Amino acid sequence: MASPSLQLHEQALSLLSRFYGYRSFRPGQWDIISAVLAGRDAMVLMPTGGGKSLCYQLPALISAGCAVVVSPLIALMQDQTQGLVANGIPAACIHSNQSESDNRYNLQKAAEGKIKLLYISPERLLLELPGWKNLNISLFAIDEAHCISQWGHDFRPDYTALSQIKATRPEVPMIALTATADRLTRDDIIRQLDLRNPYCHLGSFDRPNITLNAFGNRTTQDKLETIQAMVNRHPLDSGIVYTLSRKGAEKLHGTLQERGIRSACYHAGMSATERDLALRRFLNGDVQVVCATIAFGMGIDKSNIRWVIHYNLPSNIESYYQEIGRAGRDGLPAQAILFHSIQDVIQRRNFANESGQKALNLEKLARMEAYAEAKVCRRRILLSYFSQESTEDCGNCDICRRPPRRIDGTIIAQKALSAVMRAGGTHTGVFTLINILLGNPTTEIRRRRWDLIKTYGAGSDLTKEEWRSYIQQLIQLGVFEIAYDDYNHLRVTPYGMRILMGQERIMLSEYRPEIARRQPTGKKAPQPDLTVTPDEKLLGRLKFLRHDLAAESGIPPYRIFSDATLVDMVRRRPRNAEEFMEVSGVGEVKARRYGAQFLKVLNSAQ
Ligand code: ADP
Ligand code: ZN
Repeated sequence: MASPSLQLHEQALSLLSRFYGYRSFRPGQWDIISAVLAGRDAMVLMPTGGGKSLCYQLPALISAGCAVVVSPLIALMQDQTQGLVANGIPAACIHSNQSESDNRYNLQKAAEGKIKLLYISPERLLLELPGWKNLNISLFAIDEAHCISQWGHDFRPDYTALSQIKATRPEVPMIALTATADRLTRDDIIRQLDLRNPYCHLGSFDRPNITLNAFGNRTTQDKLETIQAMVNRHPLDSGIVYTLSRKGAEKLHGTLQERGIRSACYHAGMSATERDLALRRFLNGDVQVVCATIAFGMGIDKSNIRWVIHYNLPSNIESYYQEIGRAGRDGLPAQAILFHSIQDVIQRRNFANESGQKALNLEKLARMEAYAEAKVCRRRILLSYFSQESTEDCGNCDICRRPPRRIDGTIIAQKALSAVMRAGGTHTGVFTLINILLGNPTTEIRRRRWDLIKTYGAGSDLTKEEWRSYIQQLIQLGVFEIAYDDYNHLRVTPYGMRILMGQERIMLSEYRPEIARRQPTGKKAPQPDLTVTPDEKLLGRLKFLRHDLAAESGIPPYRIFSDATLVDMVRRRPRNAEEFMEVSGVGEVKARRYGAQFLKVLNSAQ
């Protein structure tokens, strides 16, 4: 007889296939699911598009009772419940945009055991929790869990109240999920939610399918041409342009419309109804480009966003990473293009100066600026930022494609590492480190007697500017990390330790003084390739069918099938209902509902 865990695995796989149309779990998913099923708390860090939802949805399907999912945005809850219902899974949400009688009705159904997943906003949960003694709760899932931490970039005071859940229902397993959190934020989430001995999944942050590019000081004309080129190249797909201000979003939207591009605007200054309309039109594919401020897009599960352009410099790497993560969720190639200028920096600094957490926000902005001007592989910078070790260049960013001159930086790194270690390991910031290396006896250095350590002055063969550039690179490559909770001091990572011990070498980009020159037009925007293969033609026809079906039933096209599913259809060319079921992303409900129509198009192309 099969062991219980094997049986459970088989049961989970059969539910995965029946409801979602997927044949296997992605790396990490099953371990998380089985931990939760065993009653354990869990902390899940996975990039956007990694497949977090399944990690709580499958345990919810298998367990008796109802899973309670906390989510920060109403649009997010609606999108998720819509997706579940489309797959034949009973789900509902409770929030303030819906009538009280609907809310009551949904709660009643949950109490009767007729709902497997109940989505709810944090403040509403707190209100309901005490009265739920009789509700059989299978698990709590906290989506976008970084919102609980002040160290994150999207702190929501509502979320702090979630720390009461454990006190009220300690026996119910809780799973916290986020796509963006450095080590500090992760620890804070675990502490505040009071997760007990949680199973931690630190998934790879890497999104290798997104090509990373950054361009400094481009003209408006250059930026517009880049947007136009993206639109031309992906006529059936969509993109997002993030701007710095509401005004900027509106102005760009106007210009794009004048050029005949179907665009929409989205920012916090619009009414809820206007925003909702813009979002729906984007999800439905009626508009191809959304000009948005940061308010747009959290958690939208639209799979065919092929490009994200930052029209201006974002305020921190967390937001930036989350925003570009909306592209290419289907795993197919996607583009992220970052424009930045000195004016952006000035404006962002002003914002940061006026914000509640001035010092932290300025520091985070500085990291973002450094990313924009980086001379090392951009993906490695992003991965290091999220405390994920990376020792290989990615080959899919502008720096990797046109690398600057490289030098062996091992000795440079060792000098900096040794200086930090000899000064106590956790007591120096960048500024002091440079002074130690150069042998500048500042008051602090003398007071702390760091002028007596062996590395004092050991870096006087380089200039201050050179050291600044190299230490920047060492942080970006994950040799040091910055402790935001400890005066922004430098800490040596395990990777840094290996370099210090001589177990590993490191390459750096040679320092070159910045020549103040404006690149007038820079690289010509890429031209669209107009040749179309038969497969692309078929894919186009399937997308049209999907668009029509979606319009008929008033749901977004990606809710019918994701792009990845259509691509798999083209690859497999199923001829009958049975073969159609083999396509990844085709579950029972959708096969029944849409199979015949898609097969008709597929068969006409054979
Ligand atoms: P996240 O919440 O982590 O951003 P989602 O849970 O929305 O990501 O998943 C992203 C996409 O990947 C969705 O279209 C989802 O259906 C798909 N997906 C998730 N798990 C699997 C799997 N095991 N096999 C194939 N596709 C999957
Ligand atoms: Zn790279």
